[in-house]
Amino acid sequence: MSSVQDIWGNMLTSLETESSAISFDVWLKPLEPVDIVDNRLVLLAPSASARDFVASRFLNLLKATLQKHHTMLSEIELIDPLEMEKFSAREQKPKQEEPVATKDAVTLLAKYTFDTFVVGKANQLAFATAQAISEEPGSRYNPLFIYGGVGLGKTHIMHAIGNKIRSTKNLKVMYVPSDAFINDFIAGVRTGSSHSNSFKDKYRSVDVLMIDDVQFFAGKEATQEEFFHTFNDLHQSGKQIVMSSDRPPKEIGGLPDRLRSRFESGIIADIQPPDLETRIAILQRKIQNDKQEVPNEVITYMAERISNNVREMEGALNKLVLLAQLEGVIPSVDLLKTTLKDFDEKSGSAPTMDGILDKVCKYYTLNPNELLGKGRTKDVAHARQLAMYLCTELLSATPLASIGNYFGGRDHTTVMHARDKISKQLASDNKLKFIMSDIKELLTKG
Ligand code: ADP
Ligand code: MG
Repeated sequence: MSSVQDIWGNMLTSLETESSAISFDVWLKPLEPVDIVDNRLVLLAPSASARDFVASRFLNLLKATLQKHHTMLSEIELIDPLEMEKFSAREQKPKQEEPVATKDAVTLLAKYTFDTFVVGKANQLAFATAQAISEEPGSRYNPLFIYGGVGLGKTHIMHAIGNKIRSTKNLKVMYVPSDAFINDFIAGVRTGSSHSNSFKDKYRSVDVLMIDDVQFFAGKEATQEEFFHTFNDLHQSGKQIVMSSDRPPKEIGGLPDRLRSRFESGIIADIQPPDLETRIAILQRKIQNDKQEVPNEVITYMAERISNNVREMEGALNKLVLLAQLEGVIPSVDLLKTTLKDFDEKSGSAPTMDGILDKVCKYYTLNPNELLGKGRTKDVAHARQLAMYLCTELLSATPLASIGNYFGGRDHTTVMHARDKISKQLASDNKLKFIMSDIKELLTKG
């Protein structure tokens, strides 16, 4: 008899052709086959709300597909992660599951220390609180919530806290990316109560718990619930908690108030894109560490061109150095200009909200005032959402509230909605992808 995995694999193949790409990616593919009970195939949805939605929209399709492939089976049972607990308890048969993810916390990267982090105005609050925490974990700033755009050093700072504490104190430090926490939780629920206890032990026995990118907790109800208890438990016993996110707690959608208020209950430190001097200093520090030879004018040119993402800047530097080595020359501004053309185009002149509004309106031949006004006709609303989406993508350090405000005093939740809607559409709509890249090209041409 075929395994649940095989059965589900076959079903997925035909579901992919029988449902829209977006439904398939968002709702069907994330389901996980759990077991067969009598004539039912049991499928696990990632959350209770996903389970309900799939049940209301796709149950018949799932059933029909199942019956087509496996005449012995006729029913689908959809469960959520919490039901998984009951389910595994009921089943009780020894399973040949892969070992549960009781892996230790993710290793800390040794190179991410306070010493290698360049401090400037844009990140000094985050840096200072992080240092204070590593001196006296659990005492003053608890929890620390760090937020800022992509590639601005959040992960670096968390590792630095961990490295410092591990080298100076006899404390148990755990760093986990939020998706690892989520997976671990789901694995725990799936294998029943004994592991869910070990999940609890694992996360509640540490002195310092750091969770990276907690924006991914949005909408994951069961995980949030578990994290809420973990949080309270640790916090009450004076253990340090550090979290990072790409946005402030109030802009994380689908987060219940009680969790949001926990996130906000200590200190919130933002990281903004570094100013020019800091960018130059970061590049110089990196060349020093890697013992490379790059003239100052090249550094300055690069720091002037790339402003919103340190990771991109480092990537450009690496590429330049590599190309110079291949050609056996010293990196020059010319080499930078020609060889990093693709890169230059991407992030040439830093986009602004004005620029985005302007280009989107040009593209759709609309008047900017329409987008900034109350108009709700389909075209205007779509163009406005697209412009908001581009702002969140290209100006990742700009708070959603400011974007909303710019677009006619709208609420940050409106921006969130626009962002999520467009990014879902982009996953399946090729025409929209082309439109988006056209507009981005307009933006780079200034
Ligand atoms: P985030 O987690 O915010 O997306 P990371 O911590 O992964 O960003 O940082 C991206 C890269 O940029 C890393 O290699 C990091 O070391 C580097 N970086 C970011 N900010 C700084 C800084 N202020 N000083 C030195 N390196 C930095
Ligand atoms: Mg990170």
